[in-house]
Amino acid sequence: MQISKKALGISPSLTLGIDALSKEMKQAGKDVVGFGAGEPDFDTPAYIKEAAVAAIGEGKTKYTPASGILELKQAVCDRYKNKFGLEYAPAQVVVSSGAKHSLFNTFAAILNPGDEVIIITPYWLTYPELVKMADGVPVFVEAREEDGFAPCSADIEAAVTKKTRAIIVNSPSNPCGCVYSEKCLREIARLAEKHDLYIVADEIYDELIYTGKAMSIAMMSDDAKARTIIVNGMSKAYAMTGWRIGYTIAPAEVAKVMGSYQSHSTSNPCSIAQYASVAALTGPQEDKARMVEVFASRSRLMAGLINAVPGMSCREPEGAFYIFASIRGLIGKKYRGEVITGSVKFAELLLENELTAVVPGIAFGADDYIRLSYATSEENIKKGLARIEKFCREVED
Ligand code: PMP
Repeated sequence: MQISKKALGISPSLTLGIDALSKEMKQAGKDVVGFGAGEPDFDTPAYIKEAAVAAIGEGKTKYTPASGILELKQAVCDRYKNKFGLEYAPAQVVVSSGAKHSLFNTFAAILNPGDEVIIITPYWLTYPELVKMADGVPVFVEAREEDGFAPCSADIEAAVTKKTRAIIVNSPSNPCGCVYSEKCLREIARLAEKHDLYIVADEIYDELIYTGKAMSIAMMSDDAKARTIIVNGMSKAYAMTGWRIGYTIAPAEVAKVMGSYQSHSTSNPCSIAQYASVAALTGPQEDKARMVEVFASRSRLMAGLINAVPGMSCREPEGAFYIFASIRGLIGKKYRGEVITGSVKFAELLLENELTAVVPGIAFGADDYIRLSYATSEENIKKGLARIEKFCREVED
């Protein structure tokens, strides 16, 4: 009985071990503070839930077109027109079961075996695996904290080969919380044009911006727009992670292929969730605005507390709901006789001894960092950071 080589080549999630341990400890009644969350801690706004209930009542419970209902595609086009001044036709939109699914379809649609995709490190851990699933090859370009975690165009260009087909741009970024400047987006767009690359723009956090301006790389030029595949979804901005609705906006010929691919794999995303998403995008936006305000104040609180911890430091995030904090000052040192060899060891020791869960940076390609999510209450942020500070004060040479 064999298992496919491709499937075996997909890495299991490095973060799951710590996550499973933290859940086990919680279930055993331990007071664990979790900074691992990848989803808003807010409830889905009531008007969206009501739209879903109405959709059920109205019998909107059957198959829809595989690539999504026209109302939702139109609402997506209207959003991009109103927010960014970008005009798209509904035929360019493919609605899927989440942004992750959209990314999966994207790479399936644009890659041939051996094609390379440039991924900026630190990266969202799913990108390299999705590229591999589509028989592509991830190529990593490091972005430095000193540069605000934005990639340097010379480094990107040095990584381009004849096989490069695409570059992934994730701004605001998971895990870095950075927002790329217009200059940076322009540079990437210019390189994509020069080397004829697709730009896969994961804009899932584009509503969660605290400093700077929300911009899509597709705004940089007509050429950039023509080669960008935008990936976005309902999960983060509308606290709808469980509803599983994402979408792509792509050149028409790419959208068509993605639609066909989807029609033979998952078919349409959940009809009820699609109608709820129309309501989310077209209804009152105050809940979203309130959530963004709360995230902004938590991000300042958490960054201030982290920067007071000996051995740790971080940039104040500009968007998303994560802080990528350096633990460089602690690596190689000892905690209660045990050497902190890297981010996994740090996270394990912290969880076991101070009941606080963080995600090791190695999962995102950067072993001297940890990721902390502030999609949790201020009270938890204060409590967890007090524990982290106590932990770090015990670290010695
Ligand atoms: N892209 C990024 C950068 C993310 O952080 C996430 C969620 N963790 C996704 C895509 C996927 O979101 P979803 O599938 O829930 O729409």
